[in-house]
Amino acid sequence: TTRTRFAPSPTGYLHIGGARTALFSWAYARKLGGTFILRIEDTDLERSSQASVQAILDGMSWLNLDYDEGPFYQMQRMDRYKEVLAGLIAQGHAYYCYTTPDELEAMREAMRARGEKPRYDGCWRPEAGKVLPVPPEGVKPVVRFKNPLTGVAAWDDMVKGRIVFENSELDDLIIARPDGTPTYNFCVVVDDLDMGITQVIRGDDHVNNTPRQINILKALGATLPQYAHVPMILGSDGERLSKRHGAVSVMQYAEDGFLPEALINYLTRLGWSHGDEEVFSVEQFVEWFDLEHISKSAAQFNPEKLRWLNQHYIKLADNTRLAELVGGHLLARGIVASNAPKLEDVIALYKGRVATLLELADEAEVFYADVHPDQALLDEQLVEEVKPALRELAERFADVEWQAPALALLIKELLAKHTLKMPKLAMPLRVMLVGQTHTPSVDAVLALFPRETVLVRMARYL
Ligand code: GLU
Repeated sequence: TTRTRFAPSPTGYLHIGGARTALFSWAYARKLGGTFILRIEDTDLERSSQASVQAILDGMSWLNLDYDEGPFYQMQRMDRYKEVLAGLIAQGHAYYCYTTPDELEAMREAMRARGEKPRYDGCWRPEAGKVLPVPPEGVKPVVRFKNPLTGVAAWDDMVKGRIVFENSELDDLIIARPDGTPTYNFCVVVDDLDMGITQVIRGDDHVNNTPRQINILKALGATLPQYAHVPMILGSDGERLSKRHGAVSVMQYAEDGFLPEALINYLTRLGWSHGDEEVFSVEQFVEWFDLEHISKSAAQFNPEKLRWLNQHYIKLADNTRLAELVGGHLLARGIVASNAPKLEDVIALYKGRVATLLELADEAEVFYADVHPDQALLDEQLVEEVKPALRELAERFADVEWQAPALALLIKELLAKHTLKMPKLAMPLRVMLVGQTHTPSVDAVLALFPRETVLVRMARYL
């Protein structure tokens, strides 16, 4: 059966790139009815934090990437790593090395001086017939993996095709530090083995770790998983995606008013394709997803396309759900969306005009908080020649039926009477009511407001 995992290091927020790796790994398991595992790689104590763990869990939950097992924490598995480590040493696949960091640096320096590639020279590596030095007093050894000297570490990458590393190019990796704690590559190997991972789907920044992991797995007698290394995500300038290119944290997109289904749809297309299809549900993605259609070259992040998708999904979303989300954004601004008008009704009128929930909140704000139109805009739109018509409109507003059709009819009547064209009247009306000239049809906007609010806002200027 299929078992995949997402193995983030909790050293920051859940990054867009991490989320995409998680999504691919998740979709692969879901498609094949397999198991998706979350593993937190928290052995880097300096850089890991509980807040980052939480950010990862929040991001996964917001994106609806559910896992079947975990979260497992590597720090809680130390005893197991040490047990496997002891086994490797006992079987002669790993050995103690007493070379100190200073000695190692001197060794490398000498190699560089001779024009050789700097590396550990293997002085503590046990070989048949070789007499090892006597361990020095007071030096705590590291444990090194006894990498094969000949042959290759190779795999058929499900994304990149055949990848071959010569063993002669790999030196004996440190798998435990002087204090006995296992190192990163070793923990990954033990975990992938214990968790029965069948496909390791991860960023291609790990390609160089894979031959080392494969050799350790072989020494442990394990069946190798398949590997799929997904290319990087680049910013618009071709550099690796980072903060310079805008938000890279998944939860930042939540705060910026994106819908999770929009971000998911966007992430699916970041390095993967299904013909020309751009817009599809996550269910459809799971059905279509395969590793063969992951692009071999880096994907480029395009914020405009994400906005476009978000716009699409906002139009599609249920108004009650949107009202809840937009209400939250308004509340964050200290604005309570009352029932006059109902936020759902505002959203129904405006959702086709915005790309994010923040923009929707901007539009909705003027219905629940007072508006302060820009003086220059007022001067430009509220010219003397339209004031008589607007005054009469305000008078008639006092007792007209407060519904869009009746309001539209009334406006028409006054336009004819004062021989004005629609924008002449509608523009200043919009400015007085909502502080801007871009709105849906003015009768629909008017009808959303309570009559009293309209009269108050008009009276200020007429
Ligand atoms: N913890 C690694 C990272 O955050 C991933 C390791 C893996 O997927 O094998 O990049």
